[in-house]
Amino acid sequence: MAARDDRAITAPSVIEVSRSGLLKNFRFFQRLTARSRSHVYPVVKANAYGHGMKLVVRALEGVAGGFAVHSVEEALQIAGETRKPVLIMGHIPDDTTIVENVLSRCDARFVVVEEETVQTLAKAAAALGRVVPIYVKLETGTNRLGLTMPGAARLARQIRRNDALRLRGFSTHFANIEDTTDHRYAERQFEQFTTMAREIAGGDRYELHSACSAAALLFPKTHQSFIRLGISLYGYWPSRETFVSFKTSDAFTPKSIEPVLRWRTNPVQIKHVDEGDHIGYGLSYQARTRMKIAVLPIGYADGYDRRLSNTSYVLIRGKRAPVCGRVCMNLIMVDVTHIKGVSLADDAILLGKSGGETLDADRIASLLGSISYEVLARLNPGIPRILVR
Ligand SMILES: *Cc1c(COP(=O)(O)O)cnc(C)c1O
Repeated sequence: MAARDDRAITAPSVIEVSRSGLLKNFRFFQRLTARSRSHVYPVVKANAYGHGMKLVVRALEGVAGGFAVHSVEEALQIAGETRKPVLIMGHIPDDTTIVENVLSRCDARFVVVEEETVQTLAKAAAALGRVVPIYVKLETGTNRLGLTMPGAARLARQIRRNDALRLRGFSTHFANIEDTTDHRYAERQFEQFTTMAREIAGGDRYELHSACSAAALLFPKTHQSFIRLGISLYGYWPSRETFVSFKTSDAFTPKSIEPVLRWRTNPVQIKHVDEGDHIGYGLSYQARTRMKIAVLPIGYADGYDRRLSNTSYVLIRGKRAPVCGRVCMNLIMVDVTHIKGVSLADDAILLGKSGGETLDADRIASLLGSISYEVLARLNPGIPRILVR
């Protein structure tokens, strides 16, 4: 258990993360990938999709195959929490001091696409007398990070030639798994990936990794050396389409995965407004009858999007309390006219369960025309996170 975070007592809102829920979601993927003996690497970039990076690493240190982050900076943040491999999938600064620092503090492994990066890694490795593990990222059609042939082969040769570097394998990332039930593009990317890797490897054995949550759910063949498990570790289906496609699989059960995050606060004022009164900046809401309003101490500075003004709701005593007026920087006003006995002691749930009602990031995302990933990733890291049960 995490030590009690004192800020959790004084802060206006708190994010609770269920340890047993995280483990349950993790184990679902462990079972799913067991046949291929693939490891599961939780992806903890973006503050563990808003859940709290250190806290998630601590909760999963005992079971994870390794952890995946975007940046060296994130790797440094979790370095003190884990002895497992830390896969840096994105930004590597061309700065040997920074790279030496991360290498000396954790079992860092790098995904590279540039020769300059390889040179920086080589210098840092030589300075420390260490061998640096590297994956080359192959471009198979996402056209984000990655190298096509012959650049990929050239980079692999550059790595193999240097005794301070160790080419561990190859990775790629899918472009079109979440947004469709037609998986031909992903199938072609996978084909291309294995073909390119085989060609560069020339008979030597290397690790391969390509699967994100959606690929892990839908394509058992992408369970290679390990899977990079992001959104579904946190209990969300990558998309409606992924859910629909996975539903027909044998591995599916209705509660295979479930959200583990609960964001709660308490009202700071409860008051009445009269018929015809306006609520909030810009007078965007006018009361049609006498109303009871609860003022909650969270706002867009916390990651509660301003476009939720007059659109979303929170849960209080198991009932929906609609947001009235504009979302402010640190406050929102919600309608509790229909909820009996609301007091300052009541929990107001911004994400999570209350009584029989659930409000999840998919719901908020649909109100915003976005995806759960964005809603979660933008929860302000300054909000205290606590690990519960
Ligand atoms: C973020 C990320 C993942 C995780 O994707 P999910 O859809 O959240 O599972 C996997 N691989 C790479 C390269 C990523 O950037």
